[in-house]
Amino acid sequence: MRLIFDGTVRVDERSRACEPAAGEALVRITSAPIDCWDLRSADGPRVPGRFGVGVCEHAETRELVGRRVMIRPVISCGGCDLCLRGLREHCRDRQIMGEAPRDGCFQRWVCVPTENLIALPESLGDEACALAPLVARAIHAARRIRVDARPFVTIVGDDVQALICAQHMTRMNAAVRIVGQQRRRFELCERWGVRHRHADEVGRRGDQDIVLISSGVEDACELAVGLIRPRGRLVLLAPAIAGGQGKRLDPERIVEQEIEVVGVDQGPLDEALDLLARGQFETEALLERRLLIREGPIAYEMARAPASLQVVLDAA
Ligand SMILES: [Zn+2]
Repeated sequence: MRLIFDGTVRVDERSRACEPAAGEALVRITSAPIDCWDLRSADGPRVPGRFGVGVCEHAETRELVGRRVMIRPVISCGGCDLCLRGLREHCRDRQIMGEAPRDGCFQRWVCVPTENLIALPESLGDEACALAPLVARAIHAARRIRVDARPFVTIVGDDVQALICAQHMTRMNAAVRIVGQQRRRFELCERWGVRHRHADEVGRRGDQDIVLISSGVEDACELAVGLIRPRGRLVLLAPAIAGGQGKRLDPERIVEQEIEVVGVDQGPLDEALDLLARGQFETEALLERRLLIREGPIAYEMARAPASLQVVLDAA
């Protein structure tokens, strides 16, 4: 059983164990979260799924065999100038799970370099692991914008990524607030001590040092540009935002206001797993649904909804 994606998602009944190459491990996938990158249409049919959790069934590293593991999605060469500068996520020769030529994790078996496996603590459930990519992105974003230096930060969005960023950043800087449109999300913010405003009620005073855009708010780009101060920083947290919902980013405003645009992608998964293991995020409140791989088309529909929480696919 696996999913095939070529713009639309379909279920393929075949299931075959791949043959791991030298330095690779064979992982039996148990669950996999649908990430924002998995929703992009890409060339050619492929098995999507950047991130996966499973059991390592074969590896040259004996200690890993039989362990629950999480798969890091970027496979890097380790030898190019970017890898040597510590930017392995941006390796010049990188491959990414779920993008040609690498099949992703929405299937029963996956072959992946052993160095891409993170051994999981037994106490950490699959649901918490499913949030790790989002927590990792929040950690990475907070570092890139130096949120602990106390700038005024607004997060535009109602989806699970926005909620996780807001929680993580509020712990470091009480001036962080979330601007959304879904009232039921505000109840969560209140429970977590996160400041929040409705998008219709927020003044576009151009006074925020940093505005992050996730998804779930109509015309988020236009709103963000209205909130940010001249020479402020605009942070994009997902690939679909700039050209996605509603109006696109207006280059005239960016030039006129001298706004700095920052993209944020992969963060440190091991640090994220550590925060999740310490119970820093309320896992249940951040999950939309768990579905089986064979229910992939419904799961994709849910994950595409603008203010979706995390959707997880289970292998069986
Ligand atoms: Zn490299």
